[in-house]
Amino acid sequence: MICLGVESTAHTFGASMVDDDDRVITNVNSTYRPPAGVGIHPRKASEHHAAVSDSIIGKAIRSSEGGQFDPDAIAYSAGPGLGPCLRIGATVSRALASYLGKPLVPVHHGVAHLDIAMSLGHVRDPLAILVSGGHTAILVHVDRRWRVYGETQDITLGNVLDMFAREARLPAPGGASVERAAKEGHELLNLPYTVKGNDVAYSGLLTAATNLMKQGANLEDVCYSLQEIAFSMLSEAVERSLVQTRRNEVLLAGGVAANSRLKEMIGSIAEDHDASFYPVPIEYSGDCGAQIACSGSLAFRHGVMVAEQDSHVTPRWRMDEVDVPWIPRT
Ligand code: AMP
Ligand code: MG
Repeated sequence: MICLGVESTAHTFGASMVDDDDRVITNVNSTYRPPAGVGIHPRKASEHHAAVSDSIIGKAIRSSEGGQFDPDAIAYSAGPGLGPCLRIGATVSRALASYLGKPLVPVHHGVAHLDIAMSLGHVRDPLAILVSGGHTAILVHVDRRWRVYGETQDITLGNVLDMFAREARLPAPGGASVERAAKEGHELLNLPYTVKGNDVAYSGLLTAATNLMKQGANLEDVCYSLQEIAFSMLSEAVERSLVQTRRNEVLLAGGVAANSRLKEMIGSIAEDHDASFYPVPIEYSGDCGAQIACSGSLAFRHGVMVAEQDSHVTPRWRMDEVDVPWIPRT
């Protein structure tokens, strides 16, 4: 069983083929980069996706021997995400499924971030941390669903880093730029720290860090302090959640999981509590076709598919609204 996955929720249009051993055969992605100082405009990103979709899918279905793979199912990112971007991926996938006469599988983008991280790490029943542009959540799998154990009460960790980087006119992706600058910073500046139970709230931190930067504080020190405080807040919530849920595996997934300081902090919490730590490999941390192909393949083998006329997109869609029966009960 080979599954083609199509990703298009936000900045990236991607396509990938995954086999029934969950092996990634191809993974081809193209990312829309807005000009410095500007956020992602949904229509501009969707125009990028429409322009590259043909060549990205063409490359993803081509085998290294020059032939073409024949997918048994077509999976697409059905949400959550930016409406115009989601519709490009869904339209292309519908057309392909109809032309090839293959079933169409809707995939939740956040669940897919966890699926690829679980699959690559051979993880069974973790405390899962999803940190990206769209999500900041601490989750456990209970009774067929990912349950949100803690989350951000306002903006996501990826958004904090992206919005700060935009104000500082650092290039996208903001998180990577902040990480580079933070490595040169040394002084921990005074910034607000807000944890409420297992939840975090980041908007006060973002405002304070942006103000410090505008008042002329050293940019490297602000980036260093922003990372230290933002990641410590999440780490505190993760540590409490880990103790309460008694999991012995910790999974870290999503675009911000590329950050080495965050991996160091979460990894040390796992170690302190005798849990194994599974950060997603950096190649698959940010949005990519492979996460959709992987999740779609699992879902299809559990009977998930949708008729073409019902293949809508859902720009707002919570993780805990999706059945994920492919994660075994332990
Ligand atoms: P995703 O939506 O999963 O592709 O994640 C995108 C988010 O990951 C954006 O907010 C990026 O700024 C962030 N990101 C990418 N690389 C890094 C990094 N090295 N450190 C922190 N965040 C990063
Ligand atoms: Mg994502």
